[in-house]
Amino acid sequence: MEQIGHYIGGKRVAGTSGRTADVFNPATGEVQAKVALASAEELRAAVENAKAAQPAWAATNPQRRARVMMKFVDLLIRDMDKLAEALSREHGKTFPDAKGDVQRGLEVVEFCIGAPHLLKGEFTEGAGPGIDIYSIRQPLGVVAGITPFNFPAMIPMWKFAPAIACGNAFILKPSERDPSVPIMLAELMVEAGLPEGILNVVNGDKGAVDAILDDPDIQAIGFVGSTPIAQYIYSRGCANGKRVQCFGGAKNHMIIMPDADIDKAADALIGAGYGAAGERCMAVSVAVPVGKETADRLVEKLIPRVEALKIAPYTAGDDVDMGPLVTGEAKKRVLGLIDRGVEEGAKLVVDGRGFKMQGYEDGFFVGACLFDDVTRDMDIYKTEIFGPVLSVVRAKNYEEALSLPMEHEYGNGVAIYTRDGDAARDFASRINIGMVGVNVPIPVPLAYYTFGGWKASGFGDLNQHGPDAFRFYTRTKTVTQRWPSGIKDGAEFNFKAMG
Ligand code: NAD
Repeated sequence: MEQIGHYIGGKRVAGTSGRTADVFNPATGEVQAKVALASAEELRAAVENAKAAQPAWAATNPQRRARVMMKFVDLLIRDMDKLAEALSREHGKTFPDAKGDVQRGLEVVEFCIGAPHLLKGEFTEGAGPGIDIYSIRQPLGVVAGITPFNFPAMIPMWKFAPAIACGNAFILKPSERDPSVPIMLAELMVEAGLPEGILNVVNGDKGAVDAILDDPDIQAIGFVGSTPIAQYIYSRGCANGKRVQCFGGAKNHMIIMPDADIDKAADALIGAGYGAAGERCMAVSVAVPVGKETADRLVEKLIPRVEALKIAPYTAGDDVDMGPLVTGEAKKRVLGLIDRGVEEGAKLVVDGRGFKMQGYEDGFFVGACLFDDVTRDMDIYKTEIFGPVLSVVRAKNYEEALSLPMEHEYGNGVAIYTRDGDAARDFASRINIGMVGVNVPIPVPLAYYTFGGWKASGFGDLNQHGPDAFRFYTRTKTVTQRWPSGIKDGAEFNFKAMG
């Protein structure tokens, strides 16, 4: 059985706590590795290592730090297939989707190559008589990232690349469900020229997280995961005086106006609803057609598309639409929520509960499900299902459709499909959600913009990646300087007799 330890001080080290967690192959249901769960002492040792390495890295000029990122991009491209294979094997997502996971992280690394520019400060000459003011951005020291299972390449890179480009040392606590790729990424960073000790991967569960939250040397924490854990980390981290940003769960709606191209809207819903088996924080899980006719046409188009989805392990080829869920526990939870939806009176027009994959009967597969006539009081509407389940909530008019995402607890992403610019503008302006798509189902901003939800989907005031990441991982120092007159006024050019 493969044993996955930690990556500390530039090398792989075995865990010493004696505690481990199972890492499954979601397609077969078998345990394929054991991952070490770090104790508070092991976390502390990683922090000490990072703390010792950080000052020299902060003193390395930003262009040289950027060159490590450049080289890292080359290595990610070189090892793309290897990384994607390890990712699919532990997560279960399709091979092309796993490459996308690496790619969307790589793009943030590319953005970080601009660190010398992004870290430039401000300067005011002559703010008063003989007075100049300037501000500089300095790294925080040792910072940490705690990341979820669903993007084991992208989200760690969203966290560590900007932090390290800014001159910090980083402790990454990835998800214990798919821990291989984060360690591979750390190895590539060192191969790219990163000094040992600047990027450390400490595997673990709540014990390691609590040690991070209480560690006196960790200055900032970036978290991505479910909302209850985001809230916990935000409050405990802030109470300990740390800078904390936490991104939580989601329930993303897509509004389909009567003038929308229904075929395009249906295709978009299939990709956004069922891609990665719905295990995406930007998955569309609620479709809101406006008007009965729109709803009837949409459901009619969706049913055959949902039924035709190709569900298989990632090894079955690049034309697979979705794979299994990440664990047996996730499968049980999602099936439970589907049953709940039926009990609540929603109409299950495509029922994937009985899906079995031949030869992979013990895998964590759930067939694609489509609910119609879902209403806002139902648990399946209120809860983030995080599985291959799309709910259709019918709205009578635009205002009712708008009120659904507006009044929902979560505020990560939202989309509107329409041909009407006025409706689209009104929607984008009034909606209380962080990322908005207009005829784009999953509006994940590119690396040079920032990513973050509102309401219960985000805690803290700065977003992930883009310029916000450089603000989050640095602090501002403002210098007001006055120089008294000196050599310019009083210089002597002749020898004078001494004494
Ligand atoms: P999770 O909250 O279970 O785990 C996230 C991290 O927190 C992991 O590293 C895990 O080890 C740790 N953790 C889990 N339980 C903990 C506890 N009790 N105390 C301390 N730490 C704990 O989330 P997940 O299941 O890995 O990921 C799925 C969730 O992440 C979904 O809700 C999804 O919407 C969300 N997500 C959000 C974004 C975003 O940017 N908003 C992006 C991706 C995923």
